[in-house]
Amino acid sequence: MANICNLCGLPDELCICQEIAKEQQKAIIRTDRRRYGKMVTIIEGIDDTAIDINKLAKILKSRCASGGTVKGRTIELQGDHKKRASKVLEQNGYTVEVR
Ligand SMILES: [Zn+2]
Repeated sequence: MANICNLCGLPDELCICQEIAKEQQKAIIRTDRRRYGKMVTIIEGIDDTAIDINKLAKILKSRCASGGTVKGRTIELQGDHKKRASKVLEQNGYTVEVR
């Protein structure tokens, strides 16, 4: 049984909700220095609920070979992965703004 998208009502293989959502989203990537000088890469601005943020975090973690967490609609990766994360997001169809 194919999954049916609850936004457009089409089966997953025909649904382009995620694609449309991606084009309309601007992923903002920035780094932040945490306590003890630890760097984290923060990906935010992906607030469309059509996008599976956990799935995206999984892709980013494996491509950046890094640990990370999802907090609400924000992805945090351990370490400075600005360059790689922006490339991965672009390859996945997102508009990216690096700050
Ligand atoms: Zn859909």
